Amino acid sequence: MKSIVEKEPAEVCFLCGACGYLEKHHIFGGNPNRKWSEKYGLTVHLCPECHRDTKKGVHADAEKAEKLHKIGQAAFEKKYGREKFWEVFHRFYIEKAEGEGEKKPAQGREGFVFLDDIPPEWPYREGN
Ligand SMILES: [Zn+2]
Ligand SMILES: [Zn+2]
Repeated sequence: MKSIVEKEPAEVCFLCGACGYLEKHHIFGGNPNRKWSEKYGLTVHLCPECHRDTKKGVHADAEKAEKLHKIGQAAFEKKYGREKFWEVFHRFYIEKAEGEGEKKPAQGREGFVFLDDIPPEWPYREGN
């Protein structure tokens, strides 16, 4: 899948604009999110420093990773919609898309509780 976040072919580092050797980075890592990043085009090209530097690299710097998560979600929402993002990644990195007025409800549609830290074994059942 072509990236939906950057223009292809990428010629410069997505974060710092350096040109030269670039590496492909999956915005959402881990299992299975890395796979979904590939499938939905949530990838960017980074220079080795922005990618793998043990201090400044996106894999070491949570703030940088979070920035990319937000950019990734925004691009995904534009193309596939917000519901779909939830369906695939089971969490939101940005509260709402830009320009959207409404607030995220504390409790969403049935069966969903919009909190980030509910473990998979969360025992809530409708009607219990
Ligand atoms: Zn860079
Ligand atoms: Zn990476």
